[in-house]
Amino acid sequence: LTIAGIYRMQISRETVKANAMLAGLGRTRRVILGDTLLDGFAPEEIEVVLAHEVGHHVHRHILLLLIGTGAFSLVAFWVCDLVLRQYVSGIDGEVQYAPLSLAALPLMMLIISVLSALSGPLRCAMSRRFERQCDRYALRQTGLSDAFRSAFRKLAALNKADPDPHPLEVFLFHDHPTISQRLALATEYEGGRKRR
Ligand SMILES: [Zn+2]
Repeated sequence: LTIAGIYRMQISRETVKANAMLAGLGRTRRVILGDTLLDGFAPEEIEVVLAHEVGHHVHRHILLLLIGTGAFSLVAFWVCDLVLRQYVSGIDGEVQYAPLSLAALPLMMLIISVLSALSGPLRCAMSRRFERQCDRYALRQTGLSDAFRSAFRKLAALNKADPDPHPLEVFLFHDHPTISQRLALATEYEGGRKRR
């Protein structure tokens, strides 16, 4: 498991928000940290955020995300095929895709939009699970629970995150744990360490 490098991305001209990400496949895998993060955060806070991104790498989240997207595409196109068979071709059996009317395209786009809206909560739940995994990884690897808390407090303030969103909103739209859940995770980690 290697990472090609850690990169600084200039985003301060476009936003005051702080951001970090893991990108690439195989040997092109890299961690990208926004200059807003590198310039505005303490070294220990940056260490925690970096460890979180490395966590995405260690837990192979990009691969899992690709598999998930692939599975979604399979299901979505299978449903498109079913619907086209029923309502567009009018012929039982195989859909003739080559002579298919262009008018079928908006129908396919509608089906795909509806399916992606329906699968949104599932995708968000998976993402929130990945994020929690990486938060735990960052806490374990760095042991910096104070820096973890201050980093995520700063991130939430900069990114204007709602500190206490409605659970339904979280279920439908949030792909990251809420700031209060992340702070609670740090406290939980400290509790676990004291018991040992
Ligand atoms: Zn993350």
